[in-house]
Amino acid sequence: MARYTGPNCKMCRREGCKLYLKGERCTNGKCAFDHRSTAPGQHGTARKKVGEYGKQLREKQKARRYYGVLEGQFKHYYEMAEKMEGITGENLLVLLERRLDNVVYRMGMAASRKEARQLVLHAHFTLNGKKVTIPSILVKAGDVIAVKESSKESTKIKALAEQMATTTTPKWLENDVANLATKVVALPARDDIDFEFNEQLIVELYSK
Ligand code: SF4
Repeated sequence: MARYTGPNCKMCRREGCKLYLKGERCTNGKCAFDHRSTAPGQHGTARKKVGEYGKQLREKQKARRYYGVLEGQFKHYYEMAEKMEGITGENLLVLLERRLDNVVYRMGMAASRKEARQLVLHAHFTLNGKKVTIPSILVKAGDVIAVKESSKESTKIKALAEQMATTTTPKWLENDVANLATKVVALPARDDIDFEFNEQLIVELYSK
């Protein structure tokens, strides 16, 4: 499937906030957004009046890029969210949060969601004891995500294991550092998502 392969930092500048797409670089003082936060392009520094539609579009793009999801997939999550009980915007964020690549990132076994996606695609993880290679799988309460036994000796995984040991997980995940695993103790709630989203704007965009 086609994916965005352009510069990640440009997306942060476009959305006007740090989206933490590049792992360590985002927090070690080398962040491009910290040095230049204007929108990319020739007219990036120009002050532009943003209308309602513009705000809604930017919020949708921000969420889509934060979770590394393509346009069609994002729309699909929205349609799922609409059919669920409760508030559509909150349902949408919770669905995105339940993606397997996000869980691998949250448990501390990847420096970014992009890296988590790669690790899942390369079959380094199991879901409830079975090999898994689909980053978009939605986890459920009770699921256990673990590094595959044969991957534990890889240098990369060993380095990530050290990172996992110092990671603070959200309360819906419970890490088992010794076994490089995490358990989904409950489904995430809106309050568990520690990033500023105005999901109502996304709902308004799709409701037009
Ligand atoms: Fe965004 Fe990270 Fe690049 Fe900073 S380093 S602009 S947070 S992707």
